[in-house]
Amino acid sequence: MLDLSLKEIQSKLVTDFERGLNSKQHQQRLKKDGENILQKTHSISPISIFLSQFKDAMVLVLLMATLISGILGEIYDGITIVIIIMLNAVLGFIQEYKAEKSLQALSKLTAPKTKVIRDGKTVNVDTKELVVGDIVLLSSGDKVPADLRIIEEYSLEVDESALTGESVPVVKDATKMVDGINIADAVNSCFKGTSVTKGRGKGVVVATGMDTAMGQIADMIQTAGNEPTPLQIRLAQLGKILVTICLIVSVLVVLVGIWRGEDIYKMFLAGVSLAVAAIPEGLPAIVTVCLAIGVQRMLRRRAIVRKLPAVETLGCATVVCSDKTGTLTQNKMTVEKVYFDNSNIEVTGNGYEPRGQLFLKNQTVSTENKILEKLMEIAVLCNNATLHKKEIPIKGMFRKGKDNWSIDGDPTEGALLVLGAKTGWWKEKLLTNYKIFKEFPFDSSRKMMSVVVDKGASKFTLTKGAPDIVLDKCTKILEKGIEQPLTESKKETIKRVIEDYGKEGYRNIALSYNTYTNDYSVESNMIFVGVCAISDPPRPEVFSAVEKCKRAGIKTVMITGDHKDTATAIARQLKILPEYGKVLTGIDMSSMSFEELKEVVDEVYVYARVLPEHKLKIVKALKAIGHTVAMTGDGINDGPAIKEADIGIAMGITGTEVTKEAASLILTDDNFATIVEAVEEGRSIYDNIRKFIRFLLSCNIGEIMTMLLAMLMGLPLPLKPIQILWVNLATDGLPAMALGLEKAEKGIMERKPRGKNESIFSRGLDFKIFSRGMLIGFITLTMFIIGYRKSMGDIEFARTMAFATLICAQLFHVFDCKSEDKSIFEINIFSNLYLVFAVLSSSVLMLIVIYLPSLQGVFSTKPLELTDWLWIVCIVCIPYAIQMIKLILLFVFKPKAVTTK
Ligand code: ATP
Repeated sequence: MLDLSLKEIQSKLVTDFERGLNSKQHQQRLKKDGENILQKTHSISPISIFLSQFKDAMVLVLLMATLISGILGEIYDGITIVIIIMLNAVLGFIQEYKAEKSLQALSKLTAPKTKVIRDGKTVNVDTKELVVGDIVLLSSGDKVPADLRIIEEYSLEVDESALTGESVPVVKDATKMVDGINIADAVNSCFKGTSVTKGRGKGVVVATGMDTAMGQIADMIQTAGNEPTPLQIRLAQLGKILVTICLIVSVLVVLVGIWRGEDIYKMFLAGVSLAVAAIPEGLPAIVTVCLAIGVQRMLRRRAIVRKLPAVETLGCATVVCSDKTGTLTQNKMTVEKVYFDNSNIEVTGNGYEPRGQLFLKNQTVSTENKILEKLMEIAVLCNNATLHKKEIPIKGMFRKGKDNWSIDGDPTEGALLVLGAKTGWWKEKLLTNYKIFKEFPFDSSRKMMSVVVDKGASKFTLTKGAPDIVLDKCTKILEKGIEQPLTESKKETIKRVIEDYGKEGYRNIALSYNTYTNDYSVESNMIFVGVCAISDPPRPEVFSAVEKCKRAGIKTVMITGDHKDTATAIARQLKILPEYGKVLTGIDMSSMSFEELKEVVDEVYVYARVLPEHKLKIVKALKAIGHTVAMTGDGINDGPAIKEADIGIAMGITGTEVTKEAASLILTDDNFATIVEAVEEGRSIYDNIRKFIRFLLSCNIGEIMTMLLAMLMGLPLPLKPIQILWVNLATDGLPAMALGLEKAEKGIMERKPRGKNESIFSRGLDFKIFSRGMLIGFITLTMFIIGYRKSMGDIEFARTMAFATLICAQLFHVFDCKSEDKSIFEINIFSNLYLVFAVLSSSVLMLIVIYLPSLQGVFSTKPLELTDWLWIVCIVCIPYAIQMIKLILLFVFKPKAVTTK
């Protein structure tokens, strides 16, 4: 279709370039051609998740044990082991399936959107719903959603490297006809999967899904899966090491036993028991579940996790670099002051309602003023926003609200439209006299925008942009209705006005024009008209969020394209910029070497008038001095910096598709406070992972110690493999899961961030795990010996004592794991009801196994008496008695410490 004219395409595709398809046509085509997707994204099937449960090392050990038990005639043992394996697999499956589902639901949330014209209205739709004939609107940062023939374009440039490998963006031209089918030459078309780097455009969809150029090479495209997090990788490695060690130890124990003349089957049983005891089989599944729960919690706090590692890394963030406009501020813009013809005018009215007046020293300014007229022309015509009455639901119907005005498009431009409307200059009215026939779009590198308009016989360029940039392009000024030379002293006066506005926190836009001759001279020798000062108040919630960051040892840095004075004023208001803090501008940065930037980067709190490439330099410098950096971005050029940052954050509302794709986190509300909440959530998730690792590993060590010590002492096995399996299944799993649901501990945002490469076992966790594991093993063995003596050698009774002690010790210990630095007496043990419920159900399961006659045979248990339970509870409480004594001592001696101070 590349070689057809637009007219031919319009009739061939039965569409309307102005109004787009209607809903009926769209539905019919969608039904006929299918969704606009390259291939069904492959999702893991429930069956493969279930089968993966049997790949586990422990399961293999157990299956082998079952086989050998069967060969040795112990069918009963074999069947029970198989049942437990199955139960374990079902539990593992439920956990992983849920985790997988919630991650899949997440990818739906980040599904790309496209702006199309349907039924004559501009709407944002899911990209996969596009059909041939749809009219698509493209702008900088968009991913081209399907193969398009361009209808109109304004400085449209597209990066087609994904398709052609050529990294230089291609300049598109709707008017060019091409005769071949070579993609690289097709300047009148855009292709699915490429990205718009500059400008705007409108195109008609000519191919979707697998029919697109990208579809034809779809097999070659790698779809990124869910990457494992660094912690998951490290835990998988740890798991392998533990499995190897415990298998070696088990084999050694078996061999030594046989060598000592023990029964082969008994020793084999001992070896299997030890292996079963040692392998932390639940760990990887619970980590996955915990991360998935974290992802859900973040979503509730309006942060979408795109890459799972971000959940972990967020807790390490030491610097959050944030955009100003819309993230730290509300993006609700109002022009409050206008400067033209040496006069400082105040504008009244609030929000987007076009009601307000202009005052000069308390006197109303007449709108019949030539310069004001020119100013409004530029403000309103060099503008892509639209101002309209918002449709609000009234009695179930959508009606246009009376005073409910809103804008579509860039809020800065919206504010200028409202200013125009306040003085009677509506875009629709102006367009009856003017025709816009060219546009040089705004982008954050140029920091200005121009349109070329046709008014009768003359053509003008109307330009608006950052005042420092626009002023540099001006040689004349409009004063008293006449074009005068813009002398240095006049420039100085204007600069002072801009500086004053900036210091008051206003975002400034300068307006200028000239007569259009050709494209090369559009933005030179311009005539300066005036400046609009736009207020954009800080978001109220950001004040406390910045404060929270400070307490949490996280530095907040503002990076903005806005002027230094405006940025400084807002940063001071938000207390981001301390007295001693430095402000750097893009120009300062350009003259600095990387080494020089590294020297000062820790003292800089505000970067103003930066270009997108400066962001990358800032991230690199911060990382080079050891920071873990979270960086926000919205424009297409922010991609590299976002990728380079440890946590790349894209804006959900204003962010471009390309930026979202590069990011690991998307803020659905573009709000800085949400980043801080996500950091808090990240810290809490990591804490929870440490909590259940502490619990699970100390339980495992407890089990190993029980078995190993007994063997070294030449005692009979204190626990049968089935009993250990039961403990691992019914006692460890549930409470560990519940620990993953703990709420954030108080004061979580009062601690310093943890190091990025910090081991999960740091801050004394290894010691805690090992010492408590030893203690659990020791007391279990002690109760085994006591039970053995008391029952005069009844091995089943003694094992039941050991079994009950082990479970009780673990169920008590789970409450210790709720906090890293507080004892069980200083926390509310009922704060997590899931945990209370898990402990209760594990206790009931234990009692069933001990007292239900039909299970006593299976698990070789004997009923215990009240005195036995008293013994068990007493011994299990020893560590808590020690904790209590410590607390009392601390309480008694603390006042003394204070008085000596
Ligand atoms: P952030 O803080 O998110 O970086 P910003 O809006 O301050 O955003 P840019 O969007 O790069 O940064 O804008 C830089 C400057 O360009 C603004 O200070 C303003 O003077 C000018 N400007 C902003 N939007 C427009 C626009 N639509 N047309 C012309 N000039 C604009």
